[in-house]
Parts: sequence; C-alpha cells; structure tokens
Amino acid sequence: MMAKVSAMDIYKLLPKTNCKKCGEPSCMAFATKLQNKEAMVVQCPILNNSKFEKNKNTLIELLSPPVKEVWFGHDDKKCVVGGDEVMYRYELSFFNQTPIGVDVSDNLTEEEIKNRAKYIEEFVFERTGERLKLDFIAIRNASNDPEKFKTAIKIVQETTKLPIAICSLNPNNICEALGVVRSKPLIYAANEDNFVELVKILVEKKKSGKDFALVLSSNDVKKLKAMATECAKHGIEDLVLDPHTTPENIAETMDKFVMIRRSAIEKKDRALGYPLLALPINTYFYAMNNENPMGDFIGEKDKVAGILEAKTANVLLNRYADIMIIHGTETWELMPILTLRQAIYTDPRKPQAVEPGLYPVGNPDENSPVIMTTNFSLTFYTVTGDFEKDDVNCWLLALDTEGKAVDVSVAGGQYCGENAKNLIEETKLEEKVNHRIIILPGLAASTRGDIEDKTGWTCVVGTRDSSQVGEFLRKNWENILNEWKEKNTN
Ligand code: SF4
Repeated sequence: MMAKVSAMDIYKLLPKTNCKKCGEPSCMAFATKLQNKEAMVVQCPILNNSKFEKNKNTLIELLSPPVKEVWFGHDDKKCVVGGDEVMYRYELSFFNQTPIGVDVSDNLTEEEIKNRAKYIEEFVFERTGERLKLDFIAIRNASNDPEKFKTAIKIVQETTKLPIAICSLNPNNICEALGVVRSKPLIYAANEDNFVELVKILVEKKKSGKDFALVLSSNDVKKLKAMATECAKHGIEDLVLDPHTTPENIAETMDKFVMIRRSAIEKKDRALGYPLLALPINTYFYAMNNENPMGDFIGEKDKVAGILEAKTANVLLNRYADIMIIHGTETWELMPILTLRQAIYTDPRKPQAVEPGLYPVGNPDENSPVIMTTNFSLTFYTVTGDFEKDDVNCWLLALDTEGKAVDVSVAGGQYCGENAKNLIEETKLEEKVNHRIIILPGLAASTRGDIEDKTGWTCVVGTRDSSQVGEFLRKNWENILNEWKEKNTN
C-alpha cells in the first residue's frame, strides 16, 4: 500500500532549486522528510518567496493530517495526540502513540493524592530496550467542590511534572480550576448539557491568553460534530472527541470509533477530524458497581475490574483510541496495555533492531559458550531475558539480519555464513574465547554448513526456544567443549 501523499506529490510543489538551505542535499530528499513527518514546510526558506505562496499553502493543506494533531502539557513535557493519516498501520505508520492517563480523585486525602501522583509518574517497565511509562494525570472533580478540585490540582502540580487533564462537568469548577493550572491542560468535558455555558467561559479564557485542549463528549456522533463545528467558529480548535465508552457494549463503542475515524480519513470530514478519547475507566467502575461476572474464578472485585478495564483499553487501542484514561495501576494490568501500545506504534517501515555485535551475558570467560542470535530487538531481548533468568554465562553474537527474526532471516538469507564471518572479525571474538564453537538456534539448523564453511568455526545446533538454552548448556556444554578441545589439540 502506498502512503496517501507520495514524496513525488510533495516534490512537485517544492521550488526544485536543490539549494540545500533546508539542510537536505536536494528538494527530493526534503520531500521525503516532509512525507515522513521528519521536517516542516517552514524549513524551506525559498517557499517564502511570493511566487511560491500558492505552492506553500497547497503543501500545508496537503500535509495536514486528516486527524488534527493536538497537544497539552508543558512545552518541554507534553502529550501529543492524534495526527494520523491512515486507517491501517501498514499503509504508512501510526504517529503519536496513545497517551495513557490515570485518574486522581479530589475526594482522596492530600497524602493519597500525592502518593498516587508520584506512583503514576514513576511507574515504568522495560520491554525490548524501551522504557514504557504512563503519560498524564486526569484530576477528577468527584467532589463537585471547586476548592477541593483546586487543591488536588495544586498538589499534583507540586508533586509531578506530568501533563494534566482537569475533569469536571461543572463549568464554574472548570473556570476556577483554570486559575490554578500552570500548563496547557486537557479539559474534560463539554457535553450537551454544559456546552453553551462552558464554551462561553472558555472563549473568554482564550481571549485572556489561556491555552487549553477541550474534550467534547456525546454518545451521539451528529451532536459531537455539531459541537466541534461550533467550537471551531469560536476559534477553539484543539479538540478531542469522546463518543462515550460504554462498558455494557464495547462493540458498539468500537463501531463508533471506527465510524468517526473512517469519516475523518476516508471522507475527509473535518468536523470529525479530531483525536478520539477512550475511557476504560468507565469499565473499571462499572465492574466495581455491578455483579462480578468472573465470580466463579476471581472473588476480588477490584481484580476483575482491572482485568476488564485492560480488556477495554486494548480493544480501543486497536480501534482507534488516540488518548485514554484508566483507573487501575497494578503492574499486571498496565503491562498488557503498554505492551500493545508499543507494538501498535512501532513504525512498520523500520524493523526494530539492536546494534549488531558481541554482548556478554552474565560473566563469561574464555571457556564460555558463544551463541548466535539475530539483531531483531524482540528476539534479542527475549533471549537475553531468558539467559539472565537462567543464570547463563555466555557470549551472545547479535548478527546483522536487518532486524529480522531467526526464521525470517534464515529464509531471507541474512542469517548466513558471510554475515557471521564479518561479525566474528569485527568483534574480535577469537581473542575472547579459547575455542571455536558457535551454538546456533534450532530454527537456524539449515545454515550450519554455510556458517562452518565461511567462518571455520564448529557449529552446534541448540534448542528452538531460548528458554531451554540454560538446561541445554548445563547438560551438554562441558562435553561439547572437551570434545572440541580433544579434536583440535591433537
Ligand atoms: S531549501 Fe527548499 S528549494 Fe532549497 S533544497 Fe531545500 S526544499 Fe529545495
């Protein structure tokens, strides 16, 4: 599938002087950067010439994504939301991964607010070399008391640097809260009941220089569209749409998300071309307040609520949540959500790869085994994780397979003798060990002859699964090494 706007479409509108003033060697190179969102139109100074004015405007129009990009937070720590151009990731890529916010109720004590905010900011786990984190705090005006709301906002701002969403359906409380907010907040929400009053307040705030992004909330897509149109008329254009996340019927919620995204991207409906907010938090509280559907298996309601909330979050991450608010903070709940988000927002055009090379695992010495995997990051981190868990000490070769997994790179010819030979030379492996044995993954058994011929090293086919390598080495490595030494010292 091609990208919606090709580099050639963009190039045709550039001045074509190849003057390099944009920092690129040619206009075509700049066009490719623009297409990949790695540069901005304003970086070409030649377009400021009045004879290119029409081209410049056409370019800006052409490159504006059908889903508006909206941000909130601080200049140096912001959540950027939306900006997508395609329905399916493989058509181009999805940009701006879904920021995930956790709620903090203003009914909590000051100490509880502080602790929860700190926990949200510090939560992190590592996967395939990336640190996966939460992105913002949604302060809920559950008390409906403006003073409590402002206090909670102040505590969160003093405790963390995370961007905030301020959540109240009471226009007066939003108005008061804006007086203490120090960054550009996301405001939740204008709905059919408070729309006129809240927009009136926000128009005034905007005139006085207050910046914000606003969520429009309605179960009815036509009403969302009407509210978005009205907001745009008043110059409020940093909008996010909340078509309601309905815990009783997530399929219906998903249908609405798909319909809105289709209207924005395929039908170019500007009034629906805004990021979508998902509220898995609704599922959490629904599960807490209703009969336990998993009562036969799990008695604790909060665990069931966390499981169902994660399910809703993952369904809507797939279709097409650009931002979401959750309640649960248990690691077992957050891991599947953050992992799926990471998978969706990796660029399908760039394989996730680690630097090819030689990596010590544990404390290897000259008698330790050498194991050769690929530089596909998911494989590499799975292998190193399994080895560390199993106390394996070894030298791990990460072969340059252009970021492909073992079976794919065997089929594609990258897991081969020539590449192995180059890697062994580059890493000076011969100086590290006093043997010449490489253990290959079971899935690469067919490459054994080629690798032995090209490298002169003896290859041993190991297990198909890296979780079994520890046991394989405990049972076999000493014999393999002794046999090799006997053969090669006589
Ligand atoms: S500055 Fe503009 S005209 Fe010059 S090379 Fe870059 S894109 Fe082309």
